[in-house]
Amino acid sequence: MRKGIGVSPGVVVGVVHRVESVLGSLEQEALEDPGQVPAEVERFDQAVAESASELETFVQKVSQELGDNAAEIFKGHLQILNDPALLSKVHELIETKHLTALAALQAVMQSYAAQFARIEQDFFRERMSDVRDVILRIGSHLTRKPAGPHDAAGDCRNGEESVILVAHEILPSQAMSLGELPIAGIVTEVGGSTSHAAILARSRGIPAVSGVDGVMADVGNGDLMIVDGRDGMVILRPDQEATAAYRKVQREFFDIKDRLVANRDLPALSADGTRVELLANINNLADAQASQTVGATGVGLFRTEYLFLTHLDVPGEEEQYEYYRRIILNSPNQTVTIRTLDLGGDKTVPYLGRRSEPNPFMGWRSTRIFFENAKLFITQIRAILRASRHGRVSILFPMITTLEELLHVNTLVKETRDNLRREGVAFGADVKTGVMVEVPAAAICIDAILRETDFISIGSNDLIQYLVAADRDNPKVAHLCEPLNPAIFRLLHTVLSACQRTGTPVTLCGEMAGQPRSVLVLFGMGLRRFSMSPAFIPTIKALLASVTTAQAERYAHHVLQLNTSEEIRSYLTARLHEVSSTLEMLDRA
Ligand code: PEP
Ligand code: MG
Repeated sequence: MRKGIGVSPGVVVGVVHRVESVLGSLEQEALEDPGQVPAEVERFDQAVAESASELETFVQKVSQELGDNAAEIFKGHLQILNDPALLSKVHELIETKHLTALAALQAVMQSYAAQFARIEQDFFRERMSDVRDVILRIGSHLTRKPAGPHDAAGDCRNGEESVILVAHEILPSQAMSLGELPIAGIVTEVGGSTSHAAILARSRGIPAVSGVDGVMADVGNGDLMIVDGRDGMVILRPDQEATAAYRKVQREFFDIKDRLVANRDLPALSADGTRVELLANINNLADAQASQTVGATGVGLFRTEYLFLTHLDVPGEEEQYEYYRRIILNSPNQTVTIRTLDLGGDKTVPYLGRRSEPNPFMGWRSTRIFFENAKLFITQIRAILRASRHGRVSILFPMITTLEELLHVNTLVKETRDNLRREGVAFGADVKTGVMVEVPAAAICIDAILRETDFISIGSNDLIQYLVAADRDNPKVAHLCEPLNPAIFRLLHTVLSACQRTGTPVTLCGEMAGQPRSVLVLFGMGLRRFSMSPAFIPTIKALLASVTTAQAERYAHHVLQLNTSEEIRSYLTARLHEVSSTLEMLDRA
């Protein structure tokens, strides 16, 4: 049995499918037959040629969209790629040691890493990260299968057994394609409860556990495994007794979920009839469709960065417009809050420049990128404003930290509207703009922010990590980075009260909006708009129907008097049990 963090509730018994990262294995694989050498050299040269043409496209597209400076990094990568020393080292290893191209590439990367590690200057360290980037790019061409990114699905199916993906880490770009595979559980060695892999698992309603240190070394493909996403437990190769017991829990879990989906067409009301808006967080078109199925009344958060993450280069205005239009048309009531690009932190794209920052979550991320790359922002705003004619659309700015930043983006949006008008381009007339309150500085100065915005959306995932100074993706500090904490509830109370005083519409779109114990308090504090992974909507609807407004107000009042997370947790666990013992199963521990 292994302990990690439960990041998506539910229980599943299934067979392991290991996801190896590109160049992730340390074994040096040799070719089975030396006669394969010429073909392997050719395969490598082909991957180099494909990488070169990809980089050339980047240089061209990035100079066009973001300017020549931004394209410098790819010009540097092209130089590395064309370095005869790198290529001849790989050739030599294939020819003399009969290594596969991938193994040879890996050996070369390790020898470079060892050389660079001996050098002190930062400049050379950066250079190593560029070399690694180039090598990974060639590696990805070597391992790319002709059938495209979803090809792994074929390997994944294993008779009738559910498939559990086990990986060291799931990268954002991988997470998107994994979303379409027939996966029943996810286990990773790294990543916290708000990492993209966890968010993806929740949006698909797949049980998931992260932070299971060293699990990759202990499992093989086809091993039986139990994943309990409620309390973060994983059982490797369980005996018959445990398997039978957990299969029973798995069936109960599915039964409850099936029953709950039946409430999809009912309005979301508390037991005494207070109306609540339950909205969906979506990352792509499939999520938009899923949000209709579960009965969301709109999309409260559309994370546009996934379009950029799965794109080889910068998507232009037309492509973005078309994508947003399809998302709007496929969303419940054609109502969508579109968030501008929130890259950086754990979500990086190659075309925006250097990847390595000592503190990426505290660094050049999100709206901060736009102050250097205004064109990127303006192109996105133009595409959203144009697409907004097809529905009821609002625009949301992530990571606003200061009033100055907000005034600056507001000015850019105003200028963009003026330009569209001047050009005679049609766009939606009544598009509201809002601020994501997810940096404590903005939450503390909420009064000033509210004077300059139409609405706010509280991003509790980031707000919590910044408030408690604990990385949302680091399992070691996961006990700190979670919502049932007195500081969080006090700050949320300040923000919600300010919104109530000024009559500003407010939504909470972090993961706590889908967690029953937190919802009891938030509803009691007067929050009426919750945006969450679509899979949680039926649960939260059922929960609200079992509690009265006065009851929840009492809970909130009591929680605000408590001083430790432990007291809050045990108080709310008892209240949840009273309100609905069936729903406990669908909460995280
Ligand atoms: C948040 O920070 O709470 C949020 C909803 O955004 P993301 O998880 O994409 O950072
Ligand atoms: Mg955020």
